[in-house]
Amino acid sequence: MEIEKLNTATKCVHGLSENVSQGVNTPIHTSTAYDYLSDDPLNYPRYFNTVNQKEVGEKIRLLEHGEFGLVFSSGMAAITTSLLAVLKKGDHAIFQGDIYGGTHYAITSELSKFGIEFSFTDDITVQSFERLIQKNTRLIYIETPSNPLLKIIDIASIAGLCQSSNIISVIDNTFASPINQLPLTLGIDIVTHSGTKYLGGHSDITCGAVVTSKDLGAEVYKTAVNLGGSLDPQTCYLLDRSLKTLALRVNEQTKNAHQLARYLADHDKIDNVYYPGLTSHPNHDIAKKQMTGFGGMLSFEVKGDADEFVKKLNLIKPAISLGGVETTVSSPERTSHAKLTADQRAHAGIKPNLLRLSVGIEDANDLITDLEKALSI
Ligand SMILES: *Cc1c(COP(=O)(O)O)cnc(C)c1O
Repeated sequence: MEIEKLNTATKCVHGLSENVSQGVNTPIHTSTAYDYLSDDPLNYPRYFNTVNQKEVGEKIRLLEHGEFGLVFSSGMAAITTSLLAVLKKGDHAIFQGDIYGGTHYAITSELSKFGIEFSFTDDITVQSFERLIQKNTRLIYIETPSNPLLKIIDIASIAGLCQSSNIISVIDNTFASPINQLPLTLGIDIVTHSGTKYLGGHSDITCGAVVTSKDLGAEVYKTAVNLGGSLDPQTCYLLDRSLKTLALRVNEQTKNAHQLARYLADHDKIDNVYYPGLTSHPNHDIAKKQMTGFGGMLSFEVKGDADEFVKKLNLIKPAISLGGVETTVSSPERTSHAKLTADQRAHAGIKPNLLRLSVGIEDANDLITDLEKALSI
């Protein structure tokens, strides 16, 4: 059976594991020392080539429809390795203005040390990227849906712009996961993930992933070995185990998020709901075109004090991070955007009463009851 042609839920369960004679799960190979006389290429964990690393990297590659996949010790390791693999001294890169705070910080504090220039866009239109292109622009980096306002960028248009300008396109696909969005099939060159979120899905592991073409993969691989952000075998095993239920989890999270978004949108104590699945979302049409589901993340503005509202929730817990099986709520003002000034936050559309929900796999009715109680007292 040709594995590439299998459907997503099947790939999640099986990956490339064809031989079950020694059990249906890949055993954890803990060795860091391997036989140098064997015919295999030299095995070493930091070479990203031990059994568990290869197995789970291949599974994520299959899920993202790529030619090359590698797992990392964190999302940031995957992102910084990708950037440093492609960019060199004198190059220029364009980043979406409202990307994940950790990525923003890494760019502003590290890239200039390597003589790499960068710009951030003002908004998410294709024109705002095009406007910033210079002679030495080598890379464009996007994140859609974005955090925390769930803005949607037209992936195919960005990929087209990059192709016509000889620029490498990179997307952080953490929020959508490969269950809801396949950027490589839309023309993007490199997909990165914080596997700490949906791929891991149980709020208990830190990891990352990169999926790309064979050629770019060779570049990413060389830099990965040098920077050393490899993943240990136990976490590889847990990640592989998590991936078996990725489709199941994300489909349920997506269904629940849609239901919660509709409920909140109708509530008179809620101002705005940001969810790409709502027809009121400004980029709903683009989301519909490029996503197979609208994802498990949403945000909203609650009338009154956000902290007071969160304290009244019972089932839904305040927590940073996202993508777990449990529903969590977080305040961008207090977490991801805490370092910005009030003015900068206002400019970015982050109001003090904005809350972000990472919707889990609980029964949606119980989640709605929890929200209803907190909104009514
Ligand atoms: C969490 C996150 C990251 C960083 O991943 P780590 O696993 O914490 O290193 C990158 N991008 C997005 C969108 C994230 O949510």
